[in-house]
Amino acid sequence: MSGNRTFTMIKPSTVSDGVAGAILARIQEAGFRIVALKLTQLSLHQAGIFYLVHRERPFYHDLIAFMSSGPVVAVILEKENAVEDFRTLIGATDPAKAAEGTIRKLFAKNLQENAIHGSDSDENAMIEGSFFFSGLEQF
Ligand code: GDP
Repeated sequence: MSGNRTFTMIKPSTVSDGVAGAILARIQEAGFRIVALKLTQLSLHQAGIFYLVHRERPFYHDLIAFMSSGPVVAVILEKENAVEDFRTLIGATDPAKAAEGTIRKLFAKNLQENAIHGSDSDENAMIEGSFFFSGLEQF
């Protein structure tokens, strides 16, 4: 993937709330093109690998239990300046601090169940996208 792609994941409690479609519509209306998309469930081990950077944090075990608790919607997106623009679209990690109109402000429950993931760099977008999708699944 090049610098115009990012990776996102709609989190389990948000998928089970039935609002994945509403969130995908907002993402597309903001100008992002869907490159790859699937509904899938991480094992505890896979969630642990995905969030390995946070392994020393006190919330790590809760986070990976939550992220493996049900299906997620995994998506690769394309747009100019994708990583930065997508982080703006989803808002701050803590929904209490997220700007009005952002996806986390609208759909998050709390700091952990904050609706959606968004890659924080071009390098991580590529790593995370490849974690979920083979080259044959990207269009
Ligand atoms: P993000 O890049 O905005 O998703 O934020 P981080 O990479 O810092 O954290 C990854 C995820 O861990 C967040 O999206 C939250 O789901 C969760 N998280 C972050 N900080 C906390 C915290 O202090 N407590 C809990 N319970 N979860 C957190």
